[in-house]
Amino acid sequence: MHQMTDRLRDFIDRNPDLEPPYLVVDLREVERLYRDLKGDLPFADVYYAIKANPARPVLELLHRLGASFDCATVREIRDVLEIGASPKAVSYGSTLKKEPDIRTARDLGVDLFCFDCAEELEKIARQAPGSRVFCRILVDNTGADWPLTRKFGCEPMEAVPLMELAAKRGLVPYGLSFHVGSQQLEPLSFVRAIGTSSDVVGALRARGIAIEMLNLGGGLPAHYDRKIPPLANYSAAIKAGLDEADLNGGLKQIIIEPGRYMTGDAGVTVSEVILTAMRGDRRWVYLDIGKFGGLAETMDEAIRYRMVTPHNGALTTPSVVAGPTCDSADVLYEKNVYQLPSALKTGDRVHILATGAYTTTYASNGFNGIPPIAEYYI
Ligand SMILES: *Cc1c(COP(=O)(O)O)cnc(C)c1O
Repeated sequence: MHQMTDRLRDFIDRNPDLEPPYLVVDLREVERLYRDLKGDLPFADVYYAIKANPARPVLELLHRLGASFDCATVREIRDVLEIGASPKAVSYGSTLKKEPDIRTARDLGVDLFCFDCAEELEKIARQAPGSRVFCRILVDNTGADWPLTRKFGCEPMEAVPLMELAAKRGLVPYGLSFHVGSQQLEPLSFVRAIGTSSDVVGALRARGIAIEMLNLGGGLPAHYDRKIPPLANYSAAIKAGLDEADLNGGLKQIIIEPGRYMTGDAGVTVSEVILTAMRGDRRWVYLDIGKFGGLAETMDEAIRYRMVTPHNGALTTPSVVAGPTCDSADVLYEKNVYQLPSALKTGDRVHILATGAYTTTYASNGFNGIPPIAEYYI
């Protein structure tokens, strides 16, 4: 099982006085993950989904390594332009954009926009005439711990009339995108989604529209409580899917948009036990970080982080894990009871692993007087 890096461990050991909770991210690990992905899929352009962790050091590193960026808002676009990225390296990938924001993005030089319905397409045609657009299609999210189905994406074959409309409105019908669901544990989901896309590409060709790009979205997992397939299995599935669908030759650009994969495993949150208490026959363990401090993905206990305590390996007690706020919803794990050491007590440090993605930006702005989590990038 993947553990924290030596550099993270050293940082934590050398800084016992840093007050928890804080997140520390090993940038060398982010670099390694990026290089592994590019090594496996050299033909794909990596557009980092910056919502996973938009910290400047992460953006600067990935920009230096040659990454492009998937942004969802003008603020995210400005963030990547400020670190020196070109607007040509930006995809405005949200399907939900206000019209003035489309105009601002275009004025900033962005030329690649996502849509999944006619109304959004009309907005782009009005505010960013002549731009390249790609249509997001709905694909099977089976196998994902954090599925995204229904909210985004049109029925695959609806993309055909939509792309025809795009051409009619003077936009460039550039590509298709999908998202197999976040923390996707089945590499074959990519084969299925690429197959679905290939059917649409064929139907478009039959109507005289030759698209140039396929965007494989995100979905690559990080290491939480379960074993995950190695990256090689995902790359093999993607290559097999593209070969089978006979798409690689016909398309000029393949995009992949990792978010969670890129930063998740590179970060550790150091938290502290505030209290342990027996309630009925259950022990409750209260940490100084919870759903409102950054661990929002514990919603419905979807993402189950690994926790390392000073007593690991010792006798354990089934424990409910809860956050520090006065909101009763701030319970992290109750259905999935955690086996935590019986010796765990107030003041102990608990390391929450693989928290480099989808944490810091979810932290509330002062609920119960708790400031957003501190972040360190090493
Ligand atoms: C969030 C998001 C991603 C990243 O997804 P992960 O599962 O974190 O890799 C990629 N593309 C789009 C459009 C997204 O919204």
